[in-house]
Amino acid sequence: MKKVVKFGGSSLASAEQFQKVANIIHADEGRRYVVPSAPGKRNSGDTKVTDMLYKCADLASQGKAYAKELGKIKSRYEEIIKGLGLKISLKADFDEIAKKLEDGAGSMFAASRGEYLNGKVLAAYLGYEFVDAANVVRFKDEETLDPEETYRLLAEHLKEHERAVVPGFYGSLKNGKIVTFSRGGSDITGSLVARAIKADIYENWTDVSGFMVADPRIVKNSEVIHTITYKELRELAYMGASVMHEDATFPVSQVGIPINIKNTNDPEAEGTMIVAQTSKTSKYTITGIAGQKGFTSITLEKNKMNAAIGIGRKALQAFEEHGVSFEHMPSGIDTFSVIVHQDEFAKKEQQILAQIEESCEPDHMDIDSDLALIAVVGRCMKSARGTAGRIFAALAHAHVNVKMIDQGSSELNVIIGVSNDDFENAIKAIYDIFVEAAL
Ligand code: ASP
Repeated sequence: MKKVVKFGGSSLASAEQFQKVANIIHADEGRRYVVPSAPGKRNSGDTKVTDMLYKCADLASQGKAYAKELGKIKSRYEEIIKGLGLKISLKADFDEIAKKLEDGAGSMFAASRGEYLNGKVLAAYLGYEFVDAANVVRFKDEETLDPEETYRLLAEHLKEHERAVVPGFYGSLKNGKIVTFSRGGSDITGSLVARAIKADIYENWTDVSGFMVADPRIVKNSEVIHTITYKELRELAYMGASVMHEDATFPVSQVGIPINIKNTNDPEAEGTMIVAQTSKTSKYTITGIAGQKGFTSITLEKNKMNAAIGIGRKALQAFEEHGVSFEHMPSGIDTFSVIVHQDEFAKKEQQILAQIEESCEPDHMDIDSDLALIAVVGRCMKSARGTAGRIFAALAHAHVNVKMIDQGSSELNVIIGVSNDDFENAIKAIYDIFVEAAL
């Protein structure tokens, strides 16, 4: 078994957390390649090392003193090193960071040092080889990863080492300049390593016991999803559910390597398995519920719209030409609605409406800005009778008015539009009818 294990910031925030991580790694021979984040928060009032590093870069770029901030970061690492009883020193690294900041190395370089240093400490603690991500994760430019070159470099370097630590979150351009992913990007590094070494599994260790059926801020003690497919995850993540960086699934999902989300603070918990395909049915018919507030629907009405060829295209063109992407487009015989993100639409509202008036000549246009969308997702909904009936009965029972319904053609999801005020109640009602009723 070859496993790639990625540990998030809270899993590596202190010496105590490092010890838990080492116990997890040593408990399984297969956990050979380790991808750490930078030290995260030790408690809710704490600051992540990455944020402290961004602050240093910011101060340096303004010509202000950053030594005090950098000193605080150094203390955090020293506390970890001391707590673990290690004999290493990061003095030379900190001197170099200070020098590079002085020379204008910038925020990406600064931020990357959180993972770089944590990787060095973790490698020393585990007795694993340290492989600098700058040598194995390649970017084409500051926004674009070069995945093929990255797989090649990772495979080539890691073949030399039975066990290694590869810090997450950063890589480099061909000319050696350090580049980072967007925030939370260590998840992507883990996925790239897993793909490059053809891992059997990518374990993503965090501080929750997996992906919840519903947002735990809305449904207290939500059940965990034990198995979810990549497609289902994408539907839920698109509607705002998150435990991982949204780009982290692509490298492994393309080759069918499963991801297991696990909890460093509760390693025995099963967590969530994310797989390409499964014969496992989900316990509650639905797999998960996610949603977002803040949508607007623009409804066009026109007599004999059914015969007005091209009217849909003309309306969508108005959104396209103003750079606003649409989410859904439910339709009737003489009407259709275009649903968009309110904040994107608001900026171009008057231009788009004027263009629609001119090109579509609707009899009437209606704008509703009080719309929240909820996605009920589940691979088993396709074959389960009465799922839609149960959803809408639950909503009626909770006195939630349904403004819009859209079932994706894959039958993987049902999207429901409700008033922003009804959003939380609607999610609770759907959760209760499928999950609570089944427990
Ligand atoms: N340390 C980085 C952040 O805080 C990257 C990561 O943790 O994945 O965003």
